[in-house]
Amino acid sequence: MEPLTILKDFYGYNSFRGHQASIIDNVLQGKDTIALMPTGAGKSVCYQIPAMLLPGVTLVISPLIALMKDQVDGLNQIGISAAFLNSTQSHYEQRDIAESVLKGEIKLLYLAPERLFSENGQTLDLLKNSRVSLVAIDEAHCVSQWGHDFRPEYLNIGKLRDILPNVTFLALTATADLQTRQDIATKLRLNQPQWFISSFDRPNITYKVVQRSDGPQQLLEFLGHRVDQTGIVYCLSRMNVEETAAALQRKGFKALPYHAGLERSTRQRHQEAFIKDEANIMVATIAFGMGIDKSNVRYVVHMNMPQNVESYYQETGRAGRDGLPSEALLLFSYGDKMTLSRMIEKAENPDYVENMKQKLAKMVQFCQIQQCRRRFLLGYFDEKIPGDCGNCDTCLDKGEKVDMTIYAQMMLSAIARLQERYGLGYVILILRGSNAAKVSEHHKTLSVYGIGKEQPESFWKKLGNQLLVEGYIEAQGQDYPTYALTNLAWKKLKQKEKILLSLDKPDLRAKETGEYDSELFNKLKNLRFSLSRKLNLPPYLIFSDATLADMANKYPINAPNLLDIHGVGQAKADSYGNDFLKVIQQHVEENEIPIEKTNGSGKYPYDQKPGSFNTRPKSRSLGTATETLRLLKQGLNVEQITEKRNLARSTVESHLARLVEANLVANTSFLNQSEIDEIKEIQEQLATNLLKPLKEHFGEKYSYFQLRIATIVSNVQVE
Ligand code: ADP
Ligand code: ZN
Repeated sequence: MEPLTILKDFYGYNSFRGHQASIIDNVLQGKDTIALMPTGAGKSVCYQIPAMLLPGVTLVISPLIALMKDQVDGLNQIGISAAFLNSTQSHYEQRDIAESVLKGEIKLLYLAPERLFSENGQTLDLLKNSRVSLVAIDEAHCVSQWGHDFRPEYLNIGKLRDILPNVTFLALTATADLQTRQDIATKLRLNQPQWFISSFDRPNITYKVVQRSDGPQQLLEFLGHRVDQTGIVYCLSRMNVEETAAALQRKGFKALPYHAGLERSTRQRHQEAFIKDEANIMVATIAFGMGIDKSNVRYVVHMNMPQNVESYYQETGRAGRDGLPSEALLLFSYGDKMTLSRMIEKAENPDYVENMKQKLAKMVQFCQIQQCRRRFLLGYFDEKIPGDCGNCDTCLDKGEKVDMTIYAQMMLSAIARLQERYGLGYVILILRGSNAAKVSEHHKTLSVYGIGKEQPESFWKKLGNQLLVEGYIEAQGQDYPTYALTNLAWKKLKQKEKILLSLDKPDLRAKETGEYDSELFNKLKNLRFSLSRKLNLPPYLIFSDATLADMANKYPINAPNLLDIHGVGQAKADSYGNDFLKVIQQHVEENEIPIEKTNGSGKYPYDQKPGSFNTRPKSRSLGTATETLRLLKQGLNVEQITEKRNLARSTVESHLARLVEANLVANTSFLNQSEIDEIKEIQEQLATNLLKPLKEHFGEKYSYFQLRIATIVSNVQVE
């Protein structure tokens, strides 16, 4: 079998993405390979497909024990035999699995690295006695001391070479700076590995950074627009996690806390609930996420700035693994920098502290830049993109600045009058005419004292940050920064120029998710949920959101249609097809969605209410088309029928199309089989359900009518 055939038949995907095909090819040729691909790009198929094609067993080494079960369940779901060995299993279970491996019944065996060289040597014996064709090392960056996830057990993997000298090694990771990359090659003892480095861009994630003024309130506003969506909210401390989760629960959100201080069983229960879609918001410290593989996470919110860009990238990367539009929102406050620096400084090793401080400075820069954030992010990973991305807050907000001259002048003058020796908090106290004890009597006599009373503190905080972001003021000193005016500010003040700032970005609003019938999508989600309950499987192992969205766009109503859906392979179609088809058929019936729209001639226009799109009676009786059928059976051709019935040619053609659909006339009456095959092949290549691209492709060769006839998948007439 070809790799592509496996991708289609088992996974239900039409084509490989990025470097997948070349990686698989390289591995199949027996060459050591390193694949750097961002989260969600599809690393798994790079070893799963070779595993299917190679003779023996493929060893998958992964540090994430929690993930193994899901991965193995997922593989078994699509009909691939896989198993894992870990400490959660009983002795007997382990022996059973070992036997199956020896008998060659298992294609993929997942192991944690610490297991390889465990004292009794059982695992090594097993490996020596079975036919291992490939060793895949997931999260390969864990082998490097330079990375932020170093795991000493990974250093043992290199020793496997001595035991499995002629086996191909494939190392995969989603994060690796230059030093780590070198370590992967040497520490894993790879043999002249070939590198495949994919773009780290996650185009479906919209990056947003907002000044944090009132975090909990901002979060509520954000979530209020996304009540049905699934997401992760990261907080810095356990206490913040508890408080935030409780506050959200009080507001009626299905939110659960997760942090390392919770009982193990509680953590597990919350994680399960999230994975099973019983709770849709996980409020967590960064301890959460390494072990989960949930593809329909629509947003990741950071209530505080992460320590470095790597962590930010990794954490936001947990959104949108299914490729659908997703959001990453970071609430930033300059105070975060102080908190984090102090944490970093507690470390003993001065080199480490220096390294981490530099990383922190980059992270702050990311929050404060005025240019495209994606560009900055990718630049951090040594990747250049030609223009701005158009899908981050700075790109989206361009030109939405408002005239803030008066308020900016107030704040800038206050900073100047305070002789640039105070922090912004104090400047704001002065502007608002505060009587707080720390305000010195002498400052109460300044002309700026109290001039900004009518605006709340949150307004001034935002303004201060914007002045910082836009380069009007700059911070001086490390721990308790004071603020000074820049040349730009002095120039603007002297020349009385306008100061334009964007204070209220439209960043908390929700975004359209995609082109599909959301009513049907929700019905399908409910079905998935009840199936997942019944089968005790996480919902995304049944079908991903992307798959449901594709169904809610294409309305498959029979088995062949269903196999055309993204993410539906033969095994899943067999297991779940009928349940899903039933719901879709019923929805199509109830809403009188024209059947021709479901059969490849077009997309359902999602901006129209289903009920208003009524071009066909519910019973789908053939009406006057039966007369056309009668004439056709008498041997008349299209022209003759048109003439005889005195109808427009297009009307007769649409009768004929309906007759073909209803299986009353064969489509070969109008085209021969090879013509039909030719059209279908191009339709597949163009991956379209529309006739127009086909017409453009073929030009005069086929008429619209012929194209339509060729692309109809017939249905038995429903009375
Ligand atoms: P990673 O391990 O790189 O984070 P996964 O292997 O979990 O990513 O894949 C992410 C998602 O993309 C999975 O749902 C997977 O089935 C899907 N996927 C992988 N390859 C393809 C492909 N060629 N076309 C469509 N979807 C794919
Ligand atoms: Zn951008």
